[in-house]
Amino acid sequence: MTIIEQIKKLKKELNATILAHFYQSVAVQEVADYSGDSLGLSIKAQKSDSELIVFCGVRFMAETAAMLSPHAKVLLPVEDAGCPMADMITPEQLIELKKHHPGAAVVCYVNSSAAVKAESDICCTSSNAVEVLKSLPEEQEIIFVPDVNLGTWAARQSGRKVIVWNGFCPIHQWGFERRRLDKLMAKHPGYTVLAHPECDEDIVEVADHVLCTSAILRFIEDNDEVIVATDHGFTEYARHLWPEKQIISLNSRARCKNMQKTTLHSVLDALVQQQYLVTVPPEIASRAVGSINRMLEVSR
Ligand code: SF4
Repeated sequence: MTIIEQIKKLKKELNATILAHFYQSVAVQEVADYSGDSLGLSIKAQKSDSELIVFCGVRFMAETAAMLSPHAKVLLPVEDAGCPMADMITPEQLIELKKHHPGAAVVCYVNSSAAVKAESDICCTSSNAVEVLKSLPEEQEIIFVPDVNLGTWAARQSGRKVIVWNGFCPIHQWGFERRRLDKLMAKHPGYTVLAHPECDEDIVEVADHVLCTSAILRFIEDNDEVIVATDHGFTEYARHLWPEKQIISLNSRARCKNMQKTTLHSVLDALVQQQYLVTVPPEIASRAVGSINRMLEVSR
């Protein structure tokens, strides 16, 4: 039996659901029940009646799924698959920052730990950050954590003044060079440039559209020639979906190492060994879920 057959057989026997983030390898996405962005997958987990969820992604995503699906056992196939951006702010640092801005509302990007979400007023994703900022009263002081690029871009789009934490995604911050983008644009006139808002301002300012991963996929569905500035694993997945389209990756070496840690073998081991269980202490989960739910009310 091939490893894919073993995973599918066990998944059925255990009534498990496998969720895979868009940045996972195509092989892992092929055995998943759903592929998606982090929040989309957590909502899938919430709606699923499976008692076992294998989350192929990084820890903060599995934490979010565990908080939104208290009925299920959520497994992260690789114990140390983390997110450097989420680790750039601790709850203690956020508490300290709040002391300096006692009246501020805290908006946290979903790419943050459960403990940081618990210290925040409202969550956001890359697709609804602008909407979330606009939902706050105009005179409200706002703190945005942890992504400086998303926070700065969303502040500009919403016309709101925001105190932005200096965290970033190493892939989107360092992976893309403006010089290379300029060359590609000159070589492929007429191609649409799509950038994720975690990219540096240098890239975002020349992109035709600044979009979250789900919106990038929807755009490519209707368009044939694009240059994409986000994790290369995502571009490979888009090419796998539409091999006939011209989908150029701004940098094919820009891949999230943590996302790449999950393999078919680790997914199989997760099912066989029921590892690695992700839990969030209830006192943290109840407050963090509050900030996620406030976001869901805004972007419903
Ligand atoms: S791509 Fe960046 S933000 Fe996403 S998990 Fe990897 S390090 Fe974190």
